[in-house]
Amino acid sequence: MLQQTTVVAVVPYFERFLARFPTVRDLAESNESDVLRLWEGLGYYSRARNLRKAAEVVVREYGGEFPADVETLQKLPGIGRYTAGAIASFAFNLRAPIVEANTLRLDCRLLGFDGDPRSKAGQQVLWSFAEAVLPKTQPGRFNQALMELGATVCSPKNPNCEQCPVQAHCRAFADGTQASIPQPATRPAITEVVEASIAVHQRGKYLLRRCPTGERWAGLWDFVRFPLDEIAVTKQPSVAKAASRESHHHERIALLARDRSGLSITLGDLIAELKHSVTRYRITLKCFTATAVSGELLSTAEWLWVSPQDFDDYPLSVTGRKLAKLLAIRAAK
Ligand code: SF4
Repeated sequence: MLQQTTVVAVVPYFERFLARFPTVRDLAESNESDVLRLWEGLGYYSRARNLRKAAEVVVREYGGEFPADVETLQKLPGIGRYTAGAIASFAFNLRAPIVEANTLRLDCRLLGFDGDPRSKAGQQVLWSFAEAVLPKTQPGRFNQALMELGATVCSPKNPNCEQCPVQAHCRAFADGTQASIPQPATRPAITEVVEASIAVHQRGKYLLRRCPTGERWAGLWDFVRFPLDEIAVTKQPSVAKAASRESHHHERIALLARDRSGLSITLGDLIAELKHSVTRYRITLKCFTATAVSGELLSTAEWLWVSPQDFDDYPLSVTGRKLAKLLAIRAAK
């Protein structure tokens, strides 16, 4: 839950999650939709899906007891080397090293390591170091202390070296190279995209599509959504041409919606334009209402017709939730 977010933001999610799934058995017996609904808004949904799958394995293969060694832990869905080390050391107090964002930065500085910490060679250096410094007693507390030190003292910018308890052992401090260590990760270029989300309406209900495996937001529900780059809004040369281009756009969008859903629609209003980012994509999402006219839903996807008052029962994508709220407000008027 804590990936790419803060403890403060996570606490209410964590509490709701534990209240609903107090034991590993409760989680193993849950359905994916319930888990995703409680995870909604945290992002990184594969973690929620994997957590549930891991609970199933723990119950089925280990009688509901979490395995306590790093190797077996890494066989569970979604558990890599770092998470396995964290579970083994925090929960079972085993001498298992960890390297994650905060300790990676701290360890690079302590070692004065100015190579690429994400390369194979860099990872080898860091994992060996993390293992070598582990104490015989309380390795779990030690690992947590390193993470905390990295997060609160050895921060990415302006580390607080004056107050740092390990200053005397820090190579980067001695060399004055804290600002350039660790080597920054190369960030992928941002791509701007335009997409459409169509709230297709029929007899008071709206059409939702379940995002299949392999798609962004797999397992969550969303309105009929597709890329719109090629018909992104352009500058209009005159009022007459603007009107004709507008109607052309509407027809194109209706055709794309039919390709996506199987239904012919009459496109309604543009009710919102939402901006959001997913990995390297900066997305402008144009949200329209529409009325279903004819056709049959494609059998290649899961579909549901849902009343605005029932949107809360389903896990939705972030933008799907925003659009659902707008539709619920419109329906209540
Ligand atoms: S002395 Fe400064 S750079 Fe070195 S570990 Fe401490 S905070 Fe980080």
